[in-house]
Amino acid sequence: MNSTQVGTRIRKAKEVLGSSLVILGHHYQKDKVIQFADFRGDSLKLARDAASCREARYIVFCGVHFMAETAAILAQPGQTVLIPDQEAGCPLAEMANVDDVERAWAELGQVMDVEHEVMPVTYVNSSAALKAFCGRHGGLVCTSSNAQAVLTWALAWRPRVLFFPDQHLGRNTAKKMGIPLAEMLLWNPSRPFGGHEAGDLERAQIFLWRGFCNVHQRFHPEDVTAWREREPPTSTSVGIRVIVHPECPMEVVDLADEAGSTAYIIRRVEESPPGSKWAIGTEFNLVNRLAEEHADKFIVSLSPQPSYCRTMNLITVEKLARVLEGLARGEIINPVTVPPDVARDARTALERMLEVS
Ligand code: SF4
Repeated sequence: MNSTQVGTRIRKAKEVLGSSLVILGHHYQKDKVIQFADFRGDSLKLARDAASCREARYIVFCGVHFMAETAAILAQPGQTVLIPDQEAGCPLAEMANVDDVERAWAELGQVMDVEHEVMPVTYVNSSAALKAFCGRHGGLVCTSSNAQAVLTWALAWRPRVLFFPDQHLGRNTAKKMGIPLAEMLLWNPSRPFGGHEAGDLERAQIFLWRGFCNVHQRFHPEDVTAWREREPPTSTSVGIRVIVHPECPMEVVDLADEAGSTAYIIRRVEESPPGSKWAIGTEFNLVNRLAEEHADKFIVSLSPQPSYCRTMNLITVEKLARVLEGLARGEIINPVTVPPDVARDARTALERMLEVS
């Protein structure tokens, strides 16, 4: 079946479902998919959109599993969240599980008064169980848009933060806030006390979980220098500007001209004058879309190899059509549910975030 036929099926199902349906789409989705989203955005915007979709009975999330879970946590009673492919997980989110985090908490508890000295902060790219852990222990969630505001809040309440699962977002944000690298300890969950001497833990202000996004870790400092050499400033142009996502390694963020969430990257490109040149360090579907939407600007991926997120790309129009047609005939395909007690504590952590940012 060609894409026009699949598009017709989706449009028909949307028509049947009317206002009972809302489709949310993350910026990293393919053009073919995101064209059907009623709301598109980054994790923070979509979390807010999910919370505000009070009329819709069905929320179909075109993104990865933790995003749909977040929508399910924030959903109103009677709303159902669905994902076109249950296999679309986030490898970064899977790098921290609740058992390992509970163990880290207990180990820190042997050395300090964790409930008063350590604030747990989870990146939104994490399971509902981890968000619930934060909710239970006075902590909260952050996204790449609000990580600095969240860390500032966390450190105003407790002197240390346990940040998981993305070490790069934690390190880049803390560094921007002026926290010395010597006060950040990388926590290796497969080693006792994260791989440190128990006595060393007290010198840390930030414990950084050893997780990373394999899409953003593919950008290197050499990519930045290569583009600067290729597109240097001239008498009529400032040359290429490098803008990257804070999930990139610190060495890349330090060399870049700017770093920010996908929403920030999009805004900066949109606001720039015609003729601007950008090398962008984030997922390739977004870079490609920006290049197509801004043909009057020179927009390229920072990496010579397109950096796709494999699991985001598991969402296809065919799978979206199947889920929507199921709904149109009263069948729920691929619901995303969170146990009520986990949802309650996770919602506490998410609501703290929404209040802070
Ligand atoms: S781009 Fe990275 S963080 Fe985002 S969904 Fe893919 S693996 Fe996860």
